[in-house]
Amino acid sequence: MTELTETLELKLVEPNAHKHRKLCETKRAYQDALEAAFNANCTTQTEANDVVVNYDLSGYAKNALKKYVPQLCGGSYDAKELHDDHPVRFTNEGPKLDHKPQNAIEWYVKIPHHDDYNLWLPAQPNPEQREWLEALHARDAKMGECRLFDRDGEWYLHVVATRDVEERSSSADETPIGVDIGEASLLTVCHRDERGSPATPNLWNDEGKQVRRLRETYFTATRRLQQRGSERIAKSYGDSLWRQIDGILHTVTSEVVAYADQFENPVLVLEDLTHIRESMDYGAFMNRRLHGWGFAKMHAQLRYKAAEKGIRVETVNPAYTSKTCHCCGEQGYRPDQATFKCSNLECWVSESHADINAALNIADRYLSGESHSREHTDDDDSAEEGGRLTGPQDSQADAEAQELTLGAYAS
Ligand SMILES: [Zn+2]
Repeated sequence: MTELTETLELKLVEPNAHKHRKLCETKRAYQDALEAAFNANCTTQTEANDVVVNYDLSGYAKNALKKYVPQLCGGSYDAKELHDDHPVRFTNEGPKLDHKPQNAIEWYVKIPHHDDYNLWLPAQPNPEQREWLEALHARDAKMGECRLFDRDGEWYLHVVATRDVEERSSSADETPIGVDIGEASLLTVCHRDERGSPATPNLWNDEGKQVRRLRETYFTATRRLQQRGSERIAKSYGDSLWRQIDGILHTVTSEVVAYADQFENPVLVLEDLTHIRESMDYGAFMNRRLHGWGFAKMHAQLRYKAAEKGIRVETVNPAYTSKTCHCCGEQGYRPDQATFKCSNLECWVSESHADINAALNIADRYLSGESHSREHTDDDDSAEEGGRLTGPQDSQADAEAQELTLGAYAS
């Protein structure tokens, strides 16, 4: 078991005047308490406590000061005087993280202000740290010290996070497991056995239905509530629906990792998000998958849960994985969502399950040597993109209508 540590950076998105003032107050009080305790040369936590207790700060900030000041004064740092600009430190469990995928800005952080007064602020994380945020949000990673500071007029919160990952020796032959994230089935996994035959496919169909139903309920019910002016009820009802969706995604991604764990030297093979956005022919369908189905969320969850078990995750170019026959490699078509038909008359697979076919193609693409272990997640779930999720897009008719208009923002 190895412990990974990472400092997560969250930029607080344009705090309003009230919240900005509160953040400045916290910073000032912290700075004053720090200077006072430093000048009093507090070398123990008790001495520091006697000083910082008088300041209007949350317990988390005071506790951080009690630890920090004796380090400064006790000689572990060579500090003759204080810098003007110290970040406000909080001990863990003070700040909190929340995720609302239905909002334009998805992530929120809670910053302690006074003892019983906290500020919730929307925050823009570093997109490369998405898997860490998912792990932290699910409490699969531990939050350490947090630091609040401002830089060029913008506020940031740094969160130190840790999680355990397993290391696994990879001497045996690999078992690449293709993972298809889809519409009918939320996730589909399949691999090939030693003889190359498709083996033990697994589909999460019911979960796909549940998520679809919850999303439909979210859009229709919250719109109705908003029309009636019940903004608050709409918000809290919406939150509870999205928590249920989040719960389902976590169940499914845990089951996928447990499934992979039973095989010899497993490798989970996912479709590369960057390629997905770049491939225009995938257009509308992939955009719906990306935005509507928590594609990035499931990727992030799979990544950190696989790492916990020492299972590698690789990505491949997704172009045509759903339109190619896994048996003969010819192009085919999908007469309906769940069916793939091969157009090659000589191929003995005339028809197969569309999602299983796609999962096999994904696994095969890795076997053929085309893979990247890390996708470029530069702005996969930027607020802008998330913000475009505006209505239910689940029915077939919807999909066709949007085919014309949505293709444009695949790039
Ligand atoms: Zn075929």
